[in-house]
Amino acid sequence: MKIGITGCAGRMGQMLVREVLFTDGCSLAGGTEGPGHTTLGQDIAQTAGLEPCGLAITDDSDSLFAAADAVIDFTVAPVTEIHARFTKKHGTNLILGTTGHDGSQLASIEAAAAYAPIVKAMNFSVGVNILFALTKKLAGTLDEEFDIEIVEMHHKHKVDAPSGTALGLAQAAADGRGVDLNHVVDRGRDGITGERIRGHIGLAALRGGDVVGEHDVVFAGSSERIKLSHIAASREIFAKGAVRAALWSAGMSPGLYDMLDVLGLSSGDA
Ligand code: NAD
Repeated sequence: MKIGITGCAGRMGQMLVREVLFTDGCSLAGGTEGPGHTTLGQDIAQTAGLEPCGLAITDDSDSLFAAADAVIDFTVAPVTEIHARFTKKHGTNLILGTTGHDGSQLASIEAAAAYAPIVKAMNFSVGVNILFALTKKLAGTLDEEFDIEIVEMHHKHKVDAPSGTALGLAQAAADGRGVDLNHVVDRGRDGITGERIRGHIGLAALRGGDVVGEHDVVFAGSSERIKLSHIAASREIFAKGAVRAALWSAGMSPGLYDMLDVLGLSSGDA
């Protein structure tokens, strides 16, 4: 499978280049960066700290989508909307790891999924997706006597909060309880908030250092507390999951999928 990487000089982009080059059944179709980026024209593999591969970084996403069987996108939300249009134009499979999309950007991505398979995941790690499934299961098993709080921590460069993964965990908990997340979510408490409301799901975000990603889902009852935790020690787990998703997408019908589909966990039964 020929795989292209957008944002190939970024933190995840470089990791993805390495993963594609070292995975059987994959070859690198090319890589892009934003217009004016300092790495334009440089060798893609060399920029990722490897021996040169003979492919230069360009800012021509249109040509990358035309040349690739699948494109993996970990860039920024406004740019992924443009990339979704190239998926629509060329029918190229899209593996979408970028987080922080607004409603209209999500609508563009959903529209493009009518033309090619798109795997969109807030977190491509296998372990986190098992955490999603466990959270949904536990939230459905424990009643509202158990308060659900989600705490996440990421490195100081992260620009959006709470993380897409934390929001996904909150959605999994809401799905498990059969409630609309929008009606029960408490984001970023501050000041005189009043007592906690029964049945609400709380979210808290910590930022600092070089933390790759930590997520805790706490079920706090009276006299007992259950905590589900995931700690990402390296970004490699996201790159491995994204390349696994790209290979899985080969031969799939157009549609919007997530990592639970890739892992066969979409029923939420853990
Ligand atoms: P980063 O800033 O290091 O990399 C983003 C790259 O995109 C940069 O190199 C930037 O120059 C490039 N870019 C910007 N505009 C572009 C354009 N028009 N065309 C091509 N490239 C362009 O960020 P990062 O830490 O690699 O994270 C990127 C995204 O991936 C973020 O949204 C982050 O939250 C998300 N992420 C998701 C997962 C997951 O598993 N889903 C895991 C880690 C990070």
